[in-house]
Amino acid sequence: MSDQWIKIYRASSPIEAELLGGLLRAEGIQVHVPNNPSAGGVGELPADAIETVIYVMPEAYDAAKHILSLYEQNSANNAEWCCPACGELNPASFEECWQCQKERPVTD
Ligand SMILES: [Zn+2]
Repeated sequence: MSDQWIKIYRASSPIEAELLGGLLRAEGIQVHVPNNPSAGGVGELPADAIETVIYVMPEAYDAAKHILSLYEQNSANNAEWCCPACGELNPASFEECWQCQKERPVTD
């Protein structure tokens, strides 16, 4: 057993790190997420000021990277989209522009 965790992702918050860690574990990938600030003695820092890094073992790196890139694609798909016809910003759940009814462009 080696102990060579490698850094794979910097999450924007401990919550995201938790989410991604769960995602990777669900795929059978061992992850290390040192996001326990109270144990490190930096308890006064607000949670969102703490860099939350996800580590994986080197042999799982490629698989983990793949899962994380899928996650990033998904979160991009869940973002608001801008109507190319009228420039209106639409919620991710809308399939067509609420203003001009133009279909949502395929962002692939
Ligand atoms: Zn529109």
